[in-house]
Amino acid sequence: MTGSGFEATTRVHLRTALEAVPAYTPGKPAAAPPGVTAYKISSNENPYPPLPSVLGAVTAAAATINRYPDMAVTALTERLARGLDVPASRIVTGPGSVGVLGQIVQATCEAGDEVVFAWRSFEAYPILVQLSGASPVMVPLTADGGHDLDAMAAAITDRTRLVLVCTPNNPTGPTVGADALAAFLDRVPDDVLVVLDEAYLEFVTAPDAPDCLALHRERPNVVVLRTFSKAYGLAGLRVGYAVAHDPIAAALRKTAIPFAVNSLAQVAAIASLDAFDELEVRVKELVSERERILAALRAQGWDLPDSQANFVWFPMGERTADFAAACQEAGLTVRPYGTDGVRATIAETEANERLLEVAGPWRDRG
Ligand SMILES: *Cc1c(COP(=O)(O)O)cnc(C)c1O
Repeated sequence: MTGSGFEATTRVHLRTALEAVPAYTPGKPAAAPPGVTAYKISSNENPYPPLPSVLGAVTAAAATINRYPDMAVTALTERLARGLDVPASRIVTGPGSVGVLGQIVQATCEAGDEVVFAWRSFEAYPILVQLSGASPVMVPLTADGGHDLDAMAAAITDRTRLVLVCTPNNPTGPTVGADALAAFLDRVPDDVLVVLDEAYLEFVTAPDAPDCLALHRERPNVVVLRTFSKAYGLAGLRVGYAVAHDPIAAALRKTAIPFAVNSLAQVAAIASLDAFDELEVRVKELVSERERILAALRAQGWDLPDSQANFVWFPMGERTADFAAACQEAGLTVRPYGTDGVRATIAETEANERLLEVAGPWRDRG
């Protein structure tokens, strides 16, 4: 844009709500000193490449990208409905579950409304809420990185339209307990929508984790949110979905951007559901790496939250930026969050091993 001369000022009216919207900080690309393999462990991506069957489906579908995708996402919706044993009318797809969550906020919130969620949690939450003009009501996590569901229930007011529960919580890792979540839902007024964000569901092994789909079946105000970006390894294609009762699902279709789920994403998601047995082997491998790394870090003396996802959380406080820089020096691009801590994705074994090596000495410095 050099030389246009017009970039300096504008008198165009932009929405004042945008002034409060924080920028989304994406995970940085991998970078490393010469001779060191770089690993990007900053975005909770799946380290495995696409399955041959998924790549084949995408390659075949690439021949038709001159056509619009199926706007109703019919085949994927029916495949999901069959797999989840819910009516197809309850499935709403979108460009990533972030896209679906945007549809949910659009459908429920106006200026002056409130959205209750835990903090720190997924950084898209305050962005999407403030874009709508509603106010985020952020309830601090407990000391062990879990949701404080009592405090969240107490934070609900007449202005609350939406509650977001992230289980497992990104970036700290714990799930909410099944009994605690049921008791919480009993306290939420039935005209307030509750979203259970299960982006990391497939990695969960805790016996007391909730069955969110069952909670959805029992309660008209509960929506389950899921994604193909993490366990299914399709982050680059952008597809996720909600399971919502019919009137809510209909509202979410109205707030969707037309044709938002592209044709490659649609076929890749179906192929991935069909190949879940193969994907599950990889998920189990990542879960066993998570358990191994958590145990090794605890043996180093770290006091870490019980992650049920594909990442671990280091509550570093003021040392957050320095620890992230030390990881970077070693070729590991991690995700620092202000002065709260650092999130590191469980990835290739070599990256996980290197994380242990870097973390060891930091255990004692502080
Ligand atoms: C990664 C993630 C998502 C999924 O994002 P997509 O838009 O589906 O890629 C949703 N919620 C949380 C908490 C996440 O960490």
